[in-house]
Amino acid sequence: MGKIHQLSALLSNQIAAGEVIERPASVVKELVENAIDAGATKVQVFLAESGLKQIQVIDNGSGFDPEDLQIAFLRHTTSKISSREDLFKIHSLGFRGEALASIASVARVTLTTSNGAVAAGRRMTITGEDGQIEPASHPQGTTMTVADLFYNTPARLKYLKSLATELRHSADIMNRIALSYPQVAFTLVNDGRELVTTTGSGDLQQVIAGLYGLPVAKELLPIQGKNLDFTISGYISRPAVTRSSKNYLSFLINGRYIRNYELNKALIKGYGSKLMVGRYPVAVIAITMDPLLVDVNVHPTKREVRLSKEPELTNLVTQTVRQVLGSVDLIPDALTN
Ligand code: ADP
Ligand code: MG
Repeated sequence: MGKIHQLSALLSNQIAAGEVIERPASVVKELVENAIDAGATKVQVFLAESGLKQIQVIDNGSGFDPEDLQIAFLRHTTSKISSREDLFKIHSLGFRGEALASIASVARVTLTTSNGAVAAGRRMTITGEDGQIEPASHPQGTTMTVADLFYNTPARLKYLKSLATELRHSADIMNRIALSYPQVAFTLVNDGRELVTTTGSGDLQQVIAGLYGLPVAKELLPIQGKNLDFTISGYISRPAVTRSSKNYLSFLINGRYIRNYELNKALIKGYGSKLMVGRYPVAVIAITMDPLLVDVNVHPTKREVRLSKEPELTNLVTQTVRQVLGSVDLIPDALTN
């Protein structure tokens, strides 16, 4: 008798969930990204106890086709890619087909959905490996309810921080997603308190005003830049409007919020000596490029990406920022705020 055996689906999903689902904010991110991929124009997120008790995401996207429900929660099931070539030109936020399987392996999930067709509404309840599907009524779109996160993985539960910290993570993710999709109306509510709200007007400056406040939004400068491979656009703050952390720097690549140290550095370099030591600007910069030039399949959460032609891009960012700041009338206004 050998010693090797295959792990159960539940156990391997729980192992995968360790990478994808770290905290309530990870669930928020995955479900909201799914809603966007489903073409939603309105996405509402309701948390109970910072998401530890419950996370509910309601969207008006395409909804699930009834026949897809049986497999949607299995690992590596996706409607977003099918061939090897697709992997090199990802146009959706998701593609790994892991989120729903991971979430369902560490929480109790209920989903109500309809694709808008007659009698297509369904309600599905998943606990562990068991799923039950029954007819239900729902407007076109999906309501996902995730309760008791990490109820069966005590080590994960213990690792979570205070309710306030967990809520801050969810609000941060929602902010970044809202900045990436000005044309989608988002709300984030925790225990009845509204934390994030955008109108979906399509106006990025309006989103920034809603999230960071009007005084900041009024001091932003529009930026536009382009070279052979990249187009960048967005807003940067005047040097007088700064923050003590880099949290207010957002870079989006083809609609996906990403973290990239080199891009932050390039932006700050564009300000040169105009920034005080330890102060950082507010900026939202959307980068558009051929998906071939960016590998998003580096980490399960897709926050880190690998860029081809990174120096060309960082140069473009620095030059564009420098140019915009050089062309405005820089009255030596207050150096602090
Ligand atoms: P991925 O997003 O990588 O494809 P997921 O596990 O997140 O994998 O989702 C699996 C599939 O379920 C998706 O490919 C999509 O077809 C469907 N799906 C998930 N969420 C929604 C939603 N809110 N509306 C419609 N379909 C959805
Ligand atoms: Mg997904």
